[in-house]
Amino acid sequence: MSQEVSVDDRMNKLVSLCKRRGFVFQSSEIYGGLKSCYDYGPLGVELKRNVTDNWWRSMVHEREDVVGLDASIIMHPDVWKASGHLDGFSDPLVECMDCHVRFRADKAPRMEPGTEVTFRDAKKKKVTAPVLDRGYVCSDCGSPRLSEERAFNLMFSTHLGPVASEENTVYLRPETAQAMFVNFLNVQQSYRLKIPFGIAQVGKSFRNEITVRHFIFRSCEFEQMEMEFFVEPGSDDEWFEYWKKARLQWYVDLGIDPSNLRLRPHEKDELAHYAKGCSDVEYRFPWGWDELEGIANRTDYDLRKHQEASGKKLEIIDPNREDPNTGKRPFRYLPYVIEPAAGATRAVLAFLLDAYDEEPPSETRKDGRVVLRLHPRVAPIKAAVLPLIKKDENLTARARAIVKEFWGHGINSFYDEKDSIGRRYARQDEAGTPFCLTVDGQTLEEETVTIRYRDDMRQERIEVSQAVDIVRKKVMES
Ligand code: ATP
Repeated sequence: MSQEVSVDDRMNKLVSLCKRRGFVFQSSEIYGGLKSCYDYGPLGVELKRNVTDNWWRSMVHEREDVVGLDASIIMHPDVWKASGHLDGFSDPLVECMDCHVRFRADKAPRMEPGTEVTFRDAKKKKVTAPVLDRGYVCSDCGSPRLSEERAFNLMFSTHLGPVASEENTVYLRPETAQAMFVNFLNVQQSYRLKIPFGIAQVGKSFRNEITVRHFIFRSCEFEQMEMEFFVEPGSDDEWFEYWKKARLQWYVDLGIDPSNLRLRPHEKDELAHYAKGCSDVEYRFPWGWDELEGIANRTDYDLRKHQEASGKKLEIIDPNREDPNTGKRPFRYLPYVIEPAAGATRAVLAFLLDAYDEEPPSETRKDGRVVLRLHPRVAPIKAAVLPLIKKDENLTARARAIVKEFWGHGINSFYDEKDSIGRRYARQDEAGTPFCLTVDGQTLEEETVTIRYRDDMRQERIEVSQAVDIVRKKVMES
């Protein structure tokens, strides 16, 4: 039985494990670190790739109706004018008059107006004041004494070319979605696609976030997995329901505890003005339920805006159907769009938190252990191959040959001969490696190895010739 890890501790313990084992490091750490920027280390990069690869597999490779795209991060500035990002992609920024932290008004702790709250002022003196009509307090010190809200645009700008002038201003994309809209006809025509179909993309996005908290949950440079699914108006409600269910199930299939997941429909006042509906897939993070992914019915808003701004028709033309309004052929229309938009780096955090477990010492095991119960498909290393004794060259040579065989089959495996076997198992448990293969004297005599299962530490003997197949089946079928 694993012991309950206290909610407050969980995040700190995970951050420390991430550094210790090489999942995530603070960016530019030797220079004091850069706030809200992170580097993915040897295990982190594998985990992130597995998350995005599994997304790609389920959204593109295993479907007839979705294709991929890898677009440029910097796009024509008119794209952001037409999409509304230049004018409206902003968060309400507020400054606390006591601790001078700047934070997002819409994410601040809510409190009933008029409630008396006690907090420390700039001189650290305890004071009491009422919550103002806006109904929130400083997210850091709890003070209700706040500046006016100011719209703060989240896009990073830079210049294309040697002259830093206004005409040369370009932006780092704050989402991947717009590239799917502006390439809509390119993809549809070159691939001869029929509605309904989707365009999927995985890539970096950039937002100059006001409040960066909770490790990689919210960072300024992050990775998204987005898909725009173009449908005929009228079929949009059905597809919206379909994608909500499919996207929630994806996290469950990859091992996230369903009791830590929920779909939350947006309230009317939360809904973007163009959206007909939106639901978030939320995960129960240590600080409470929070967004992992948004699934929105964006109507024909984006295509219409780009059509108007570019002057290029982005309609679907169906020569075999009559326009239901005029009765004339062909039927021309702008498709509606259902968008499942997920954060890859945010999903990495959810997978790590959900997998993190501590086992206390027991009668059979005097040391407790930390184990990452990652689903084998997302686990960075699938199998570790460990010679029992480092000094025995016959064992190390055999173990190296086995690990090479795994590599030859495209299974990411790891060879480790350092320290005692117990320590090596413990390292692999912390890395989330589901299977360890131990090579010993018996291996040389009868061509068998011990396979140890991460979750229950059970061990059994298997034929070396079966090892690749056994691991592959367990990874693919679990
Ligand atoms: P939030 O309300 O958390 O700021 P959002 O609703 O603005 O997010 P979207 O624009 O819908 O987010 O982006 C889709 C997904 O991209 C989000 O569900 C989230 O997983 C991820 N995402 C957005 N902003 C960030 C960020 N700054 N850091 C990491 N992931 C992010």
